[in-house]
Formats: sequence, structure tokens, C-alpha cells
Amino acid sequence: MDFLFLFLCYLALMPIGVVMICICSKTRSLKGLVWGGAQLFSCIIPECLQRAIQRLLHYFLHTRNHAFIILHLILQGMVYTEYTWEIFGYCRELEFSLYYLLLPYLLLFVNLCFFALTYVTNPGTVTKANELLLLQVYEFDEVMFLKNTRCPTCDLRKPARSKHCSVCNRCVHRFDHHCVWVNNCIGAWNTGYFLIYLSTLTAAAASVTAVSAAFLVQLAILSDLYLETYIDDLGHPQVVDITFLVQYLFLTFPRIVFMLGFVLILSFLLGGYLCFALYLAITNRTTNEWYRGDQAQCQHYLRPAGPLSPKHRVCRNIYSHGVWGNLGEIFLPAAHYEKNK
Ligand SMILES: [Zn+2]
Ligand SMILES: [Zn+2]
Repeated sequence: MDFLFLFLCYLALMPIGVVMICICSKTRSLKGLVWGGAQLFSCIIPECLQRAIQRLLHYFLHTRNHAFIILHLILQGMVYTEYTWEIFGYCRELEFSLYYLLLPYLLLFVNLCFFALTYVTNPGTVTKANELLLLQVYEFDEVMFLKNTRCPTCDLRKPARSKHCSVCNRCVHRFDHHCVWVNNCIGAWNTGYFLIYLSTLTAAAASVTAVSAAFLVQLAILSDLYLETYIDDLGHPQVVDITFLVQYLFLTFPRIVFMLGFVLILSFLLGGYLCFALYLAITNRTTNEWYRGDQAQCQHYLRPAGPLSPKHRVCRNIYSHGVWGNLGEIFLPAAHYEKNK
């Protein structure tokens, strides 16, 4: 029952996770995949149910709510409960180093601190009071960000690199994206917190993966399982191979193996996203700019550097000030504004 219940939970959660990643992703091919799936479902599901699903998706993805924060904390709580309840105790018996076992807790603590900071920090809301100051921070490229543009909703002049967030209903300075997992926009004043939050979340998932995998490997080595033989369906003795070993561990420690599968996939997904976020940070581009300027970089967002023929133009990002300058702008936004005054 235990095994079956966990297996069904897994089967239910994995497709939901994949669909959520596709929806939250800005990649057109993934959006196309979701759109194709939605078209297929629209032929099968009755119209009243479709409307209910649409309303539900609109509520979860296009209004400010705490659903994803609760889901985030529940998943984190489940992983750490399993880690504490089973893995930590078993690893202590196998005499794993305490520093090694406590590392996931340290990362969890730092992660929760930066999660809270990302959530509570004003991302850079443009108001009547700071409108003039923020208008001077970045140069208008006159391609993606035009001078003297007003936000029709806020009725304020839009500073370069700002964008109106339809979920929060406000214009945000150096708008990156709206993150449902922290229920806040990621903008000029909390991108640094967000990057540390994302890094520690990835590191926490990777450290739980490493400890769990090390425990299972150590167990297999100590019990000499790989030296044993078993009788197959035809009654022939067989040497234990990796497939048998995985099946054996799966049936003996179902919760640990399920959790390991979950944190392993999570580590890869978060690691991939972290690399993308760091790439944007060191090149001083926001997700919004990457999304809008990705189609034809030279013609739009990036200016040609130097009077070369169009064929040989080298494009450069007008907001980039070198790796350290770009990181300083993200992690010390106040110092950046002081310098630009
Ligand atoms: Zn606005
Ligand atoms: Zn927002």
C-alpha cells in the first residue's frame, strides 16, 4: 500500500510539474507543446469543465496568491521530513560525517532567509514619488524602450527597462519576471536576493541528492549485495546486476528512492535555470529583455558597435558594464543609483 500510494503520487505529480514548467517557461516550443495539449484536451473535456480549469489557471497564474508558496513549502517540508526521519538516522549509523549531514539544513536556513527577503522586498515599484529619479537611471535605447512612454494603467512615465506587471498591477523598474514561487515581481531591488535564493535552493536539492545517493551506494557496498546471486523466473541462478540492485533498493527503501528521484530531477531543472539566470546577470539582461530581444538581436535590442558595414557589425548590450559592474548593479543596486545620479 505504501509503495502503491507513493507511486501514484509520483505519477500524478510529475506531469503536473512538467506542465507547470512549460507554462512558466518563456520558450516558444514549450508553450507550443502546452497549447497543443490544451487543443487536444478541448476535444475530450466538456466545455463547463474547460471553463472551470481556465478560471482555476487564471487564478493561480495571473493573480497574486499564495498557492505556489504553500506548495513550495509543502514540498520542501516533505523532502526535509524524509531526510530527517530516515536518511539522517541511517547515515549516522553508517558513521557519515556530521558536517556533511548538516549541510542540507544550513542551506535550507539560508534559502528560507533569502526566500523571505525576495518575497518582502519591493522589487522597484515605479511611483509618482520616484518616477523622475528612476527615469534617469538607464538610457533609453529607442528600440525596446522609448522615451516619453506612459503606462496606460499606472499613468506614469515608464523608465527604461521597466515593465507593467499585470499580476501585481504596477510598473516595476528593471523588470525581470513575475515569480509565482515567491509571489512577487523580480526587479531592480530584489534580483540579488532572488539569485541567492535560487542558488541555495539548487545547492540544497543537490546536497540532499548527494547524501541520499551516498547512503544507498554505501549500503549496497557494505551489505555485499553485488556479490550475491538470485534465482530468475526460469529458475536459473543469476549474478546481481545494477538493474536488480536498483529494484531491490526501490522495494526496500521506497520513500528514499522516490525522494532521491524527485530531488535529482529538481537539481537538474534548478541547475539549468540557475545557469540561465547567472548568464543573464553577468551579461546585464533581464528575462523580459531576453524574451523580447531574442528574435533579432542586432536589429532591435542591441546596438551595433562601430561604423562597420552591416554584415560585419559587432553587437553589444548598451546596459552592460563588464561582469563585475553587472554583478555590482544587481547585488548593490543602491550604490549603482548613487553612481548614476
Ligand atoms: Zn504600469
Ligand atoms: Zn508581479
